Amino acid sequence: MPQKLQVYLDNNATTPMDPRVLDTMLPYFKEKFGNAASRNHVFGWQAEEAVQQAREQVANLTGARSREIVFTSGATEANNLAIKGVAEAYYKKGNHIITCLTEHKAVLDPIRSLGESGFRLTHLSVNSEGLINLDELADAITDQTILICIMYANNETGVIQPIKEIAQLAKRNETLLMTDATQAVGKIPINVRNSGIDMMSFSAHKFYGPKGAGGLFVRDSVQLSAQLEGGGHERGVRSGTLNVPGIVGMGKACELAQQEMKVDEQKLRALRDQLETSLLKIPETSRNGSLEDRLSHVTNISFHRVDGERLLLSLNDIAVSQGSACTSATLEPSHVLKSMGVSDELAHSSIRFGLGRFTTREEIEYTIQRVTEVVNQLRD
Ligand code: PMP
Repeated sequence: MPQKLQVYLDNNATTPMDPRVLDTMLPYFKEKFGNAASRNHVFGWQAEEAVQQAREQVANLTGARSREIVFTSGATEANNLAIKGVAEAYYKKGNHIITCLTEHKAVLDPIRSLGESGFRLTHLSVNSEGLINLDELADAITDQTILICIMYANNETGVIQPIKEIAQLAKRNETLLMTDATQAVGKIPINVRNSGIDMMSFSAHKFYGPKGAGGLFVRDSVQLSAQLEGGGHERGVRSGTLNVPGIVGMGKACELAQQEMKVDEQKLRALRDQLETSLLKIPETSRNGSLEDRLSHVTNISFHRVDGERLLLSLNDIAVSQGSACTSATLEPSHVLKSMGVSDELAHSSIRFGLGRFTTREEIEYTIQRVTEVVNQLRD
């Protein structure tokens, strides 16, 4: 049977690897297989040199210093390291942590664990656009607050939080700001220094790099307790033999993002707008999240009176999702949409479309036609 056209519009879950990234990685699986911590031979030196170059590529993209980048297995580990690492290092200063209802589970769950071991938690609400209220944040900060943890851009809606303003509040109150920038790094310009961010997590597979590689920017002045102890790699903060091919791939992905982000963004904004405008012409549809403060390759749309699960099943040649891949095993309606005031029923009828570097106009036109057809059928 000939393969039907498969359109991939789930780029917030993961992106395909850019072939240029794969080419850069391959030698580090083959002849350059050394351990970056081996000090006594050329295999180790080669690996260490490649890791160092990748550290600089990541630093260049994010405005960090290369020594402020800690390589991890991805954003989940980076979030855990930042949150638990700060809690352990600063517990004598205070025991209060502020976060937000629409965070990813990789932030909410480690913070919940800290709550269970005695930390006081504040979960900021968001408005119907998915944005936090800066006054609510200012009111929540006390002299016991050691960490504010607010994501850069949301994985379900693409909504971008006012990170610069949040950082100013953090600084004024002598508390730290950690941001989960997994969906933003490589997609929009970020400068940790200009923005006043203290810690920032990212994952290579969200920006055309490999899975299993990611990192945490940790400003020089921040103290972190290690969560993985062992050989003392990554300046003692994260022990374990480095994933050299993955790190090399992430470095290359950062370099490509830096060069191509602007062009990618313009192209994807045009395609996303075309998709969004056309889908919103279907009766009884609505868009979720801020219109201004959002990533240009994402749209989240509710198809009223249509069961999202059935819509996904019927759209079997288009890869989209109802929200986070990490929670799609549960049938719970999206906590992100619910926090924005969307009803359970409508949250179940909502679909996230995430475009990527390799999305084409033909694919978008096909998607518009198929979704329109299927929504009409299901309503009949
Ligand atoms: N944070 C956000 C906002 C994400 O979208 C994801 C990936 N779904 C993660 C953290 C976790 O990333 P990883 O699975 O690569 O560790």
